[in-house]
Amino acid sequence: MSKTLFINGEWVAATEGGTRTIVCPANGEEVGVVAEATATDTEKAIAAARAAFDNKAWDITAPERGSFLIKVAEQIRERKDEFARAESLDTGKRLVESEIDMDDIANCFEYYGKIAGQDAGRMVDAGDPAVVSKIVHEPVGVCGMITPWNYPLLQAAWKIAPALAAGNTFVLKPAELTPHTAILIIDVLDKLGLPAGVANLVLGAGAEAGAPLSSHPDVDLVSFTGGLATGRKIAESAAATVKKVALELGGKNPNVIFADADFDAAVDNALNGAFVHSGQVCSAGARIIVEESIAEKFTKELVRRAENIRIGGPFDENAETGALISAEHRQKITDYVEAGKAEGARVLTGGEWATEGDLEKGYFYKPTVIDQVKRGMSLVRDEAFGPVVTIETFTTEEEAVATANDTHYGLAGAVWTSNAGRAERIAAQLRHGTIWINDFHPYLPQAEWGGYKQSGTGRELGLHGLAEYTETKHIYHNTAPAVTGWFEDTK
Ligand code: NAD
Repeated sequence: MSKTLFINGEWVAATEGGTRTIVCPANGEEVGVVAEATATDTEKAIAAARAAFDNKAWDITAPERGSFLIKVAEQIRERKDEFARAESLDTGKRLVESEIDMDDIANCFEYYGKIAGQDAGRMVDAGDPAVVSKIVHEPVGVCGMITPWNYPLLQAAWKIAPALAAGNTFVLKPAELTPHTAILIIDVLDKLGLPAGVANLVLGAGAEAGAPLSSHPDVDLVSFTGGLATGRKIAESAAATVKKVALELGGKNPNVIFADADFDAAVDNALNGAFVHSGQVCSAGARIIVEESIAEKFTKELVRRAENIRIGGPFDENAETGALISAEHRQKITDYVEAGKAEGARVLTGGEWATEGDLEKGYFYKPTVIDQVKRGMSLVRDEAFGPVVTIETFTTEEEAVATANDTHYGLAGAVWTSNAGRAERIAAQLRHGTIWINDFHPYLPQAEWGGYKQSGTGRELGLHGLAEYTETKHIYHNTAPAVTGWFEDTK
């Protein structure tokens, strides 16, 4: 019995007694055993969140909610080592990356703590001095949150912090492979005295433990981060009850490099863009689109640098990047690269598992650079979600923009050039939710994050990320009620 579900303020086992063993993908060793919820548990969690919302358990003032979130940030900073180690063991990512994630997570809670209640609505001029017309913001209600395994606690924090700031209650269902930091954050919320039922946690498989969060009529909003195929299913299932839906899906993110860019910085950041966390990043710069005149030199240098990347487990201080999440995921990437080769693409480096020494115990894949790709190939169309980058070329600005926009995704992209005017022109034309100019990957809690096209709907972070968790109400108060005379009184 593993009491790792949190429902109505109690740590409980799964109703049907199910458990799941979590292993570290860097070495296959057991990390822990957690409860495996079924839909029954999720329904109980939804009932608890519904009751807490309807009984106004979290209906305190916005500044009080803000102070609570700031205390959450303090706790994460205080328990950073414990949190970062748990994240690294579940995901196989380097400890230093998990530590950075924990700083970002604390900053996210602090940001929403500071802005909670800042937007108190507004008065509207109704054109009649007797009318008081105002716009107010209210919490949406019960929020279902479904998150992926690549940045487990970060993605959950982007939902939990604004949801609590706005006064909602929630049920969180993290990815089944990476549950431990979700358990830790709920522990923090509980110990800080969050009322029973406001925060609930269910662990388990998506189709079983996650599905009720999109279909149940008592859930008012479902916020999902994960793959495109799952996102479509969630939107479809949510349509039956017309609940609010927020989707943060994948990306096929272009990294456009002009010949006048700072060469060393562009190569270095292209490496970060493609290979940080072994490419398991929704905003990975997996499509390099480089100006023809420097393509050969750029590719040569990128390959040289990619071959120098040191791969290792989470606690290997010499390692620069880590494991893939599972054997299945590595196989998916293997098949994806093989299919590309069969279509005529050329693997310049990588394209195989990394199995030297201890790496053999985990799921590692070598940083892979591929050229001779054509538009329409799966390699440039579909998300790899692994350490695989393709190289395409262009000769004109128009061609660069057209290539970078030739994707059904639209999450993020970058442009590298020393010509500021061109940088701004390209940034304005790219149909992606975040554009970096002469940089790759930074994001800020105060800046909106999300996708154009099939990368999603809605935004996380920033003011918009808080607005997702509010309903907007118009209150029209006529202080001088009068007969309208519209219908004649004929009695
Ligand atoms: P996934 O879609 O397989 O799973 C995500 C979550 O959905 C998991 O918790 C899973 O259990 C759950 N799930 C699966 N089927 C479900 C169903 N029918 N009903 C309810 N829940 C269900 O994605 P993943 O493999 O965990 O994550 C990788 C994907 O996430 C990539 O595509 C990546 O780009 C995307 N991602 C996007 C962002 C962003 O900010 N846009 C951030 C991180 C990851």
